[in-house]
Amino acid sequence: MGFEDAVATGLAPDGGLLVPEALPGLSGELAAWERLDYADLALEFFRRFAGPMDAGALERCVRRAYAGFDDPRTAPLRRLDDRLFVLELFHGPTLAFKDFALQLLGNLYEHQIGRTGETINVLGATSGDTGAAAIHGLLGKPGVRSFILYPRGGVSPLQERQMTCTGSDTVFPLAVAGSFDDAQRIVKEIFGDMDFRRRHHLSAVNSINLARVLAQCVYYFYAYFRLPEDRRDEVEFIVPTGNFGNVLAGWWAFRMGLPVSRFCVATNRNDILWKLFRTGVYEAGSVKPSLAPSMDIQVASNFERFLHEHTGGDAARVRETMATLREKGRVEFADFRHDRFRATRADDEGIRAITARVWRKHGYIVDPHTACGFAEIDGAKNTVVLGTAHPAKFPEVVAEATGQSATHPTLEALKRRGPRKWDLPAETGAVKAFLTETLT
Ligand SMILES: *Cc1c(COP(=O)(O)O)cnc(C)c1O
Repeated sequence: MGFEDAVATGLAPDGGLLVPEALPGLSGELAAWERLDYADLALEFFRRFAGPMDAGALERCVRRAYAGFDDPRTAPLRRLDDRLFVLELFHGPTLAFKDFALQLLGNLYEHQIGRTGETINVLGATSGDTGAAAIHGLLGKPGVRSFILYPRGGVSPLQERQMTCTGSDTVFPLAVAGSFDDAQRIVKEIFGDMDFRRRHHLSAVNSINLARVLAQCVYYFYAYFRLPEDRRDEVEFIVPTGNFGNVLAGWWAFRMGLPVSRFCVATNRNDILWKLFRTGVYEAGSVKPSLAPSMDIQVASNFERFLHEHTGGDAARVRETMATLREKGRVEFADFRHDRFRATRADDEGIRAITARVWRKHGYIVDPHTACGFAEIDGAKNTVVLGTAHPAKFPEVVAEATGQSATHPTLEALKRRGPRKWDLPAETGAVKAFLTETLT
């Protein structure tokens, strides 16, 4: 399967996740790439994967993806201390790192529509950031309509405004009377109806799309190049983690030749990955709501790709392990210690305390997701914490912990626009009826 098809379909024909056939070795490119700006670096990187895709089209997709960021460096690396840095990944249109992938994916979809002439109707469920990033990645693309389900009352007011106050008539935010799990179940059931899916040209934008992970590899390279030269040994990236997509991207960057010493998987109170790296047991419980909602995940969908690496590319073993996990909700690995990974966790109280501490110590305001990354800094490493969201998205927690009011003009502007959304019952039939009525 080529790059363009992998982007368009999302899933492998057997329902599993796609991985690149082989990861290219890029250590020979590092010196030449060091001084490139973000878009040029992303372009050089994607050239290694995009195969037969038209070079001019690829360049347009990549450049336009990062043109709308509100910082000229796209992903500024901010120094907090001698050996401590934050990579700010929240300068895109929805102020969270998901824009890095979804702005690009939106352009790749547009290219695909131009190639095939077929319209795309995106259907997805969100607990907040992904829905907003997907909507903004697809906004204004001819031939694309977005239908995003979210739990009514279950996303933050600002996240809801990001989805409902776009002023666009091709965006359909659907507030269902249920939980995120209900929304996700409805979407799965609709995708399970192949006839309905085909008739309405439905497509998914979830965190498992290969292009999303690849787009996120780029900023690991970029961050490394922005480190002072005497701080490029013993580098640890700390990644606030939910679905494992972001940290998987870092791991792929390492496998392609980026000299990283270690990755730290930082979780909130939903700590199954923390337990896995400590005990070798992967056990899914029920999701507990936290101050960092985009990390409120139990079964990390990208974990399957990591397993592929961990088993040395043994696809049969990956399938077997994933099946056990689905049936029993628990898998035990004989030995899951890994010298390039460690894990930390922070509960809500910890998030508040960390936010206050980082402000006191460094005069820097973190959002609750990024705060999880500061749980345990290892002073022996040169540390880059990934800043995954802008603090202004979570003004209450920030105000409580630091006494500061975090604001952002993009979010203020949303308050002046009226919301457009549809309230629906948490029933697959009702959502299908809505789609049929809107699309025919
Ligand atoms: C999605 C998200 C995460 C988790 O990222 P994964 O790729 O799912 O591990 C962390 N922080 C924020 C702000 C997010 O939106």
